[in-house]
Amino acid sequence: MTTSTPVGLTAEQETFRRELRDFLAGADVRREVAEIAAYPPRHEASHLAVYRRLGERGWLAPSWPERFGGLGLGAVEAALVTEELTLAGIPDDVHVLSIDIVGMFLLRAGTEAQQQRHLPHLARGERIATVLFTEPGCGSDLSALSTAARRDGDGWRLRGGKIYNQKSQFGDVALCAARTTAGPVALHGITLFLVPLRSPAVHIEPVPSMGNDRFNLVVLDDLRVGPEDVVGQVDDGWRLLNDLLQLERTGIDFHGKGRRLLDAAIGRATATGRIDDPSWAGDLAELDAAQHAAHALAWEQVHALADGRPDPVRSAMSKWFASERISPVLAAGADLDGLATALSAWDGGAPDDGLWEAATRTGPAHRLASGTSEVMLYLVAGNGLGLL
Ligand SMILES: Cc1cc2nc3c(=O)[nH]c(=O)nc-3n(C[C@H](O)[C@H](O)[C@H](O)COP(=O)(O)OP(=O)(O)OC[C@H]3O[C@@H](n4cnc5c(N)ncnc54)[C@H](O)[C@@H]3O)c2cc1C
Repeated sequence: MTTSTPVGLTAEQETFRRELRDFLAGADVRREVAEIAAYPPRHEASHLAVYRRLGERGWLAPSWPERFGGLGLGAVEAALVTEELTLAGIPDDVHVLSIDIVGMFLLRAGTEAQQQRHLPHLARGERIATVLFTEPGCGSDLSALSTAARRDGDGWRLRGGKIYNQKSQFGDVALCAARTTAGPVALHGITLFLVPLRSPAVHIEPVPSMGNDRFNLVVLDDLRVGPEDVVGQVDDGWRLLNDLLQLERTGIDFHGKGRRLLDAAIGRATATGRIDDPSWAGDLAELDAAQHAAHALAWEQVHALADGRPDPVRSAMSKWFASERISPVLAAGADLDGLATALSAWDGGAPDDGLWEAATRTGPAHRLASGTSEVMLYLVAGNGLGLL
């Protein structure tokens, strides 16, 4: 593997990375990864054994306090987990949703009772929390959301539909953005709620997707939640979304996925002797340089986060750069093996056990998830370069 080592790690962090990598290379984990690759169509990963085993060691959410199932470490160790999971080919959706988004919102804005109730289960990998932000009529611009929460005694009743949700069919609880006050300023009046997913007032319908992981339309049909389910202050959800979602965006996960694919392509070029062709070698070297650049940009954001000075503009740049570097690697993989890369794990004889076929179907999603490429460039152009 040509993966570069993150710069600026302490000796302890370097040991943590090595132990993590050794653990993820272990026979049990590799068997589970191979089983997932061979899943029948429309079957997707949910409660993974590897998550529970990481959770037992406090490694699933190492930056969380020990009393919530973490190790009390920092953003660097959290990023090492994300990077090593993606490099090892372990599905990271549940980790992103449960730990990086819902867990992080609860740690920063939740009450002690909310934290005690949910965080230890999430850190142990035994429960799944999901995200209900996007709606059929709004995604990038969440200020346009229309899911309504109206007062009902000391609690609220939620009505509306959320789309492109993932994993709620396996989830226990979701973080949902709803409008509590309609006013002249769209950004004001959004509130975040914890909603139970196993309620008769929650309907989860599959929405077709090219990837193995399905999307859901989640309809909240007069769902009652109590005052204890409000995350942060009523009407203050927009500020939380703006402040906290950028913390999710270091680009490290997208870099890990691109790097893994490029390592596989270099492995195939080496095995087939194509690497000796100067034209192939040059193309792969160019892709390798771009991956190193994505790696450097992503780790710059991780260290900025660890030092308490996150930079939303450079984070946007990093997410854009790392996610856009994936499709050229997919194209190189397809060129190397031609039509064989269209074979799935189920066809038999597929190169890299169907890795290329599966990655090609998920490829387009990388430039949409966690903020689209256009919106990332809009942030860089507007807030970074002052052009808009
Ligand atoms: C794999 C995957 C998993 C997801 N999981 C979840 C989930 O679990 N929960 C959840 O709530 N959502 C989830 N989403 C939804 C995701 O957050 C949205 O797709 C994303 O925010 C974009 O919103 P949209 O799809 O409504 O597109 P829109 O916002 O409608 O954008 C449509 C197009 O317009 C462009 N555009 C929008 N605004 C601008 C602008 N200002 N300047 C230039 N161009 C612009 C966009 O780049 C895009 O190309 C997921 C998406 C993907 C791909």
